[in-house]
Amino acid sequence: MNFVNDETFPEPPVIIHVNRDRCDGCGLCVDVCPDFALKVIDSHTRPGKKIVRVESTKCHGCGVCQATCPKEAITLPGLGPDDLREYISQAING
Ligand code: SF4
Ligand code: SF4
Repeated sequence: MNFVNDETFPEPPVIIHVNRDRCDGCGLCVDVCPDFALKVIDSHTRPGKKIVRVESTKCHGCGVCQATCPKEAITLPGLGPDDLREYISQAING
């Protein structure tokens, strides 16, 4: 088994990215954010639908919302679901 170290792990992320095609505005992430950085709003691109918006000045990239989202709609740069799968794969398979 290999270890993921400082050289293979990205710098601490600053702010999340919300995938507008995946987010359905369920609000689960809003409830868990410790910094009250998330808010469900009306979608501008999909009339009648909701989406979550992040307030960039409040988000500190802790990742709690990403871990909570059932749609995998939230991504931390370099630490999104696909990135984490790759790190785990590297750690197991080398
Ligand atoms: S938990 Fe996911 S799907 Fe629900 S509002 Fe947050 S980002 Fe959107
Ligand atoms: S990464 Fe942390 S601080 Fe930023 S929106 Fe998600 S839960 Fe809130």
